[in-house]
Amino acid sequence: MSDLTYFDYAATTPVDPRVLAVMLPYFDETFGNPSSIHRHGQRAEAAVEAARETVAAALNCRPDEIVFTSCGSESDNLALRGEALAMRAKSGADWILTSRAEHHAVSKTAEQLEKYFGFKVEWLETDEFGMLAPETVEKALCSETALVSVMYANNEIGTLNPIAEIAAICRAHGVPFHSDAVQAAAYLPVDIQTLNVDLLSLGAHKFYGPKGVGALYVRKGTAILPVQTGGGQESGRRAGTQNVPYIVGFAEALRLTVAERDQRAAHARPLRDQIIGRVLEEIPESRLTGHPELRLPNHASFAFKDVDGNLLLTLLDAAGFACSSGSACKTGNPEPSEVMAAIGLEREWGLGSLRITLGAATTPAEVEAFLKVLPGLVQKARVLKAINA
Ligand SMILES: *Cc1c(COP(=O)(O)O)cnc(C)c1O
Repeated sequence: MSDLTYFDYAATTPVDPRVLAVMLPYFDETFGNPSSIHRHGQRAEAAVEAARETVAAALNCRPDEIVFTSCGSESDNLALRGEALAMRAKSGADWILTSRAEHHAVSKTAEQLEKYFGFKVEWLETDEFGMLAPETVEKALCSETALVSVMYANNEIGTLNPIAEIAAICRAHGVPFHSDAVQAAAYLPVDIQTLNVDLLSLGAHKFYGPKGVGALYVRKGTAILPVQTGGGQESGRRAGTQNVPYIVGFAEALRLTVAERDQRAAHARPLRDQIIGRVLEEIPESRLTGHPELRLPNHASFAFKDVDGNLLLTLLDAAGFACSSGSACKTGNPEPSEVMAAIGLEREWGLGSLRITLGAATTPAEVEAFLKVLPGLVQKARVLKAINA
């Protein structure tokens, strides 16, 4: 779609041709079931185990600490549900600490554990940038805490959390700490020894790998109850025949990301800064959402007062730009997203959110063309909203 500039890399990325190339033989040539005894099975198993080693090298951890899953959401589900249930069985601990700024894969899982499984959730307060302070976690920890979950980088507003500091506090209290790094991994170091987490979620399609494959890092010795039961795959932590080509693709995408991360960030950062600077300068009643500095290098997100964010997206799409908004539109009754509420944005601002996320293929000319049309489209969206009111 050459008539549409893609500015939505936080939603998903195209598969890198180098990743696709290494995946292809595992659809037909090497199609065996990794659990089979014969040589077809052995070859498939070798591919999965080689991928596990590649991922372990990228994360600086042990291969047996990697569990392959079907997506980032599944990794979050396994981390929260698997850990919460295992901890309660072990010690009776039944409190989950997390925040409203998390991805739904974490927050809805926590809600379900509270509503149907008897856990208690403490929703920790973030600051105006959506950042969770280590002291906030420290104050909330107690002997009943089963699990703490704090995302590494926020998908909606780009803010980075002080993961290593939070991890150190949790470790000192002997409480397992999970971080959703699905959005972060494309641009931030994911060295487990530095981050010091017990559980870390990843998803390939946010870093130029295929959709439908993820991984969960599980620190050796961390108790986890499998969420999907059946065969003994993934050392009994996740049943189901492994998706060999996708796992191979996951590993290659992560390997390339670690090798090229600095270069990708250096490409995106000045373009992002140009967008942030120009939007705040040229568009009246606009604000940056998320942290001004401690944010993903490819991520610009805004709130515009008295704008219908979904309408703005439609106008942008018609003008040739694929962007995203933060507001989850329920038909007839749009509500600002929970993240907008968590950072304390008033409704007339929270409904007018816009997220622009850049990637490897983004050019300065595309950014310039976007910045030329955006102020007029925001103005148009304001007029239309006023007419409809
Ligand atoms: C995309 C995303 C997810 C979900 O990953 P899927 O692979 O799409 O299921 C979870 N958390 C964050 C922060 C994300 O950005």
